[in-house]
Amino acid sequence: MRKETKCIQAGYSPKNGESRMIPIIQSTTFKYDTSEDMGKLFDLEAPGYFYTRLQNPTNDMVAAKIAALEGGTAAMLTSSGQAASFFSVFNIAGQGDHIVSSSSIYGGTFNLFNVTMKRMGIDFTFIDPDCSDEELEAAFRPNTKAVFGETIANPALTVFDIERFADAAHSHGVPLIIDNTFATPINCRPFEWGADIVVHSTTKYMDGHDTGVGGCIVDSGKFDWNAHADKFPGLTTPDESYHGITYTERFGLEGAYITKATAQLMRDLGSIQSPMNAFFLNLGLESLAVRMKRHCENAQKVAEFLQKRPEVNWVNYPGLPDNKYYKLAQKYMPEGTCGVISFGVNGGRKAAEEFMKHLKVAMIATHVADAHTCVLHPASSTHRQLSDEELKAAGVGADLIRLSVGIENVDDIIEDLSQALESIR
Ligand SMILES: *Cc1c(COP(=O)(O)O)cnc(C)c1O
Repeated sequence: MRKETKCIQAGYSPKNGESRMIPIIQSTTFKYDTSEDMGKLFDLEAPGYFYTRLQNPTNDMVAAKIAALEGGTAAMLTSSGQAASFFSVFNIAGQGDHIVSSSSIYGGTFNLFNVTMKRMGIDFTFIDPDCSDEELEAAFRPNTKAVFGETIANPALTVFDIERFADAAHSHGVPLIIDNTFATPINCRPFEWGADIVVHSTTKYMDGHDTGVGGCIVDSGKFDWNAHADKFPGLTTPDESYHGITYTERFGLEGAYITKATAQLMRDLGSIQSPMNAFFLNLGLESLAVRMKRHCENAQKVAEFLQKRPEVNWVNYPGLPDNKYYKLAQKYMPEGTCGVISFGVNGGRKAAEEFMKHLKVAMIATHVADAHTCVLHPASSTHRQLSDEELKAAGVGADLIRLSVGIENVDDIIEDLSQALESIR
């Protein structure tokens, strides 16, 4: 199946007389005929469901669709993108371990790593995604357990050189984890470039309609945990909390990582997506390929329009040929990048605020990456506690406007931007 077909058909094949749409198994628990039957599930000896804190059939159908889209061997849904990022790292790293992460990542992920996971005793080295080979090499330590980066970073829109970082990670015997939220598997499939684990905030383009917060983790099944068994004892030695199961032995390279995350992290931390939200996510996935194409076409036209306007100082969009990341974007995402653009208007903070007041089609919202066009002025909202100097240091100028281009008629979006720009002439 090609990706457009997978969006519709992967993950669920109804048998004779069964519902064509995936069933919503809105049940916390599952019934068994004998205690022995249930015991086998608890020992992970037989596949099956017993409690929705760990696993649910609706979720698994949707996760299987995302795994098919990414070209992975196993996947799980989480309650949020944050939970997916957390689990993806915590599944293979703990107290005393170290992670190399791109510094150009989503702010929530940066906080999760730099504050909350540091409190758990995991150390992080943040490196510029455009760093030299020497700087990259120097970031690794004997206790490094993974490398983390974002295909297209939110909100900086830097493009991550996946192949380069995969090679570096593998030469140190650790996997590369990629947050593929902005590109989606429609535009980029990180496993084809050497990444080992992919995470998503499904809240964004995958859901695509502002209906549900969610996340997903996908395993490529390619990373050889056994070849680096000393680094990953949680996968390669018996788990005493699960009757001495060794995940790589029992589930193979294709299933060990996700089974461990389900059996240990979902069991203990319980950040599962509700089956109802998984159903909505599946609806979003059905149109993902069509929507991504439209998001990219619209954003390209809007970026080119903004570039020509005298009220606009600068435009950052990786689809523009003069963009710093154009070449990398062409390599990893030849069919388009995403619908998010950032730009600056003449007149700084005041002009940006005035401009946004006049918008009628584009809505002011903290969200990005869904069907509706929306805008955010970080300096007067998410980053409003910072001074102009602090904003500059954070890479978010007082004039910066983040525009998430939706799938409305692009002429309406451009006319709206045009009349609002005229207001700040
Ligand atoms: C939004 C976002 C997240 C966090 O996801 P939530 O679903 O909001 O928890 C992680 N990574 C990226 C790139 C995001 O845009």
